[in-house]
Amino acid sequence: MFKDATGTTATTIDVSGETVKDLIDALIKQFGPKFGERILDEKTGGVRRFINIFVNGKDIRNLQGADTKLEEGAEVRLIPAVAGGKEFFGLTQDQIVRYSRQIILREVGGKGQKKLMRSSVLIVGAGGLGSPASLYLTAAGIGKIGIIDSDRVDLSNLQRQILHTNDDIDRPKIESAKEKLQKINPEVKIITHNERFAVENALDIVGDWDFVLDGSDNFPTKFLINDACVLKRVPFSHGGVLRFVGMTTTILPGKGPCYRCLTPEAPPIGMIPTCQEAGVLGAVPGVIGAIQATETIKYLLGSGELLVGRTLFFDALEMRFEEFELKRSPNCPACGDRPLIKDLSQVDYGHVCEVRP
Ligand SMILES: [Zn+2]
Repeated sequence: MFKDATGTTATTIDVSGETVKDLIDALIKQFGPKFGERILDEKTGGVRRFINIFVNGKDIRNLQGADTKLEEGAEVRLIPAVAGGKEFFGLTQDQIVRYSRQIILREVGGKGQKKLMRSSVLIVGAGGLGSPASLYLTAAGIGKIGIIDSDRVDLSNLQRQILHTNDDIDRPKIESAKEKLQKINPEVKIITHNERFAVENALDIVGDWDFVLDGSDNFPTKFLINDACVLKRVPFSHGGVLRFVGMTTTILPGKGPCYRCLTPEAPPIGMIPTCQEAGVLGAVPGVIGAIQATETIKYLLGSGELLVGRTLFFDALEMRFEEFELKRSPNCPACGDRPLIKDLSQVDYGHVCEVRP
């Protein structure tokens, strides 16, 4: 496993020493500094965290660490956390450790991890859905994450918008979001847009991303995300929550139905209450946002069955998930056989998101 650093393909080497530390020193003396760099942390001088050392089958972390005494004939094994070392899909050792729990999944592997690291996801809204979704996507190592939100953090947001803390009240949400996300994973490039997702910027913005995650809290924005993504052929995850219920579906324009196939027009303003008016249990957007992040990752990996042509309803009070078939409507104004929407300016997003022919 260290053959590029040692120049030998031998898997067993005889060396002598009283402790594990002596043995490592002897190996470094034999194989040179390149091998030393692989084994020892340059800052602490200790054994790197991702190198597991076993003495007669026992992890030295459970013995006396590098000071573990060696008896005559002891068998010492040095095993990196993931076999393959530096050549493992071009991932650094820290990346291998950081993402090890998903890299060991057959559906991810080193190849999938590289795919995620080359991908970009736009999250519309850094609120109840955007918080859990952005946390998981950042932790998973998506290469570039965009967040668009023009709001500032309000005390009433903190019950569910877990990206933000008490200290963030009155700060722009995108600023607070970026700070938290970079702390979780400084490798991810976070791009923030401190503006409303609107007719004027929607097409330009969505066109730049591999996938869009709808974390918005109002119907006009949800319709706008749908229409812009369908026009630009950008796949997206739709999510919505209210009180104890949530709903989500995944839309691949050109390959399945869209949000307007399900709901051709938005309910008139005031007909369906908002979370502000009717309330929402904080953990409900947590569940839906986490599902949206899962769908995003599956899409980027090309693994599993997406929620395409299916709408998933979640009822937290009954604690039940229900699935409904969603078919593409030939009369859909966005993705039908003869789509009416050719330009976003045709849609009245201020009212019921109806289309003006
Ligand atoms: Zn449609």
